[in-house]
Amino acid sequence: MPLNLTRSWSDPDLDLYRASVARFVTTEVEPGETEARRRGNVGHEIWRKAGAAGLLCADIPEAYGGGGGDFRHEAVVHEELARRALVGLSIGVHSIAAHYLLNHGTDEQKRKYLPRMAQGELIGAIAMTEPGAGSDLQGVRTRAEKQSDGSYRISGSKTFISNGYLAGLIVVVCKTDPSQGARGTSLMLVETQDCAGFRVGRVLDKVGMKSQDTSELFFDGVHVPAEALLGGVEGQGFFELMSDLPYERLIIGVDSVACMEGAYEATLAYVRERKAFGKAIAEFQNTRFKLAEMATEITVGRAFVDRCVEALVAGKLDTATASMVKLWTTEAQGRVVDECVQLMGGYGYMNEYLVGRMYADARIQRIYGGTSEIMKEVISRAL
Ligand SMILES: Cc1cc2nc3c(=O)[nH]c(=O)nc-3n(C[C@H](O)[C@H](O)[C@H](O)COP(=O)(O)OP(=O)(O)OC[C@H]3O[C@@H](n4cnc5c(N)ncnc54)[C@H](O)[C@@H]3O)c2cc1C
Repeated sequence: MPLNLTRSWSDPDLDLYRASVARFVTTEVEPGETEARRRGNVGHEIWRKAGAAGLLCADIPEAYGGGGGDFRHEAVVHEELARRALVGLSIGVHSIAAHYLLNHGTDEQKRKYLPRMAQGELIGAIAMTEPGAGSDLQGVRTRAEKQSDGSYRISGSKTFISNGYLAGLIVVVCKTDPSQGARGTSLMLVETQDCAGFRVGRVLDKVGMKSQDTSELFFDGVHVPAEALLGGVEGQGFFELMSDLPYERLIIGVDSVACMEGAYEATLAYVRERKAFGKAIAEFQNTRFKLAEMATEITVGRAFVDRCVEALVAGKLDTATASMVKLWTTEAQGRVVDECVQLMGGYGYMNEYLVGRMYADARIQRIYGGTSEIMKEVISRAL
């Protein structure tokens, strides 16, 4: 049974935008994937091309060089990449960094960075996690120390940073006043080009997401001007991080459902072709039941994600609901992609096959952007 891929939030203009995004993805991104997986990053050129093709900052206002759309445009881009397991171009993190600027930056900061991010000239990253601080961000030790002239010196290290190797602009979570706990946290904007004291460490060797550059970052007395403080006011970092959580978590939910849809379709085509014991695998009752379970799960996920997309566009998606969508869809993605591998037998475990790559990539969805356990903490606190 084919899935119903209609989105409740789409319209003819968005369908046209989707067609152009899909064309770019299949002609420009997909052909470079094998090489990007080998190299561990997609390179700068494809980011510039993606910018020129209108895939970056799709929901940032035109006044700041963006596409002038809303979250639905952003969702289209994520879906077309995720359903093809093209995770190297980490547009989610880039968009989240752009939204920190849009929502909390000064007008000068927005004008300085957003147009270049929309063009793919500056790739964005967000550096929260440290070797000693993941889920518990209160434990961040990276320090931004104010100097007598108002500038800052940043010292510390970050790990697991998506786009860390290619990034030109990193939003760094720092302590500006360690005695103040959460209130002593600030977000600093660090430009990486010719940045004395900044160093990219290892590009980390991950289980999946092979084409995405996930890196260690080191800041050794990095000197930044006063204007590098996001929004110009110290101590706002935690508030800024928390207020953008619905956007971040929904991006992950959108990716999860699109990945499940792509995996299901590839599996359906495979089991209809593949023969065993004189008939197509698709004809076994077990296969039909598994497909039925998966189609049901994906349909439930699609309905929930679509509702959240509409709520976000209306400015009504709260953090608890966004945490629910992240929790449910990423857990479902794990179950569905695992079943797809099983139905494809040994071929499902091969990196050569879409489903094999999705299987390795899916695992991290339950960990980054807040683990499933942290999602349950957040949801339970809101009950
Ligand atoms: C591929 C990849 C990309 C990433 N990209 C980025 C990025 O771009 N920027 C960035 O800043 N970080 C990034 N991360 C880091 C990611 O967000 C963290 O790994 C994640 O938040 C978990 O932190 P941790 O690894 O330190 O695990 P820990 O916090 O040490 O957690 C370990 C386990 O303990 C559980 N746990 C922790 N606290 C609780 C609690 N209160 N109750 C119940 N269980 C709990 C967790 O759920 C988990 O199961 C990335 C990680 C990976 C692997």
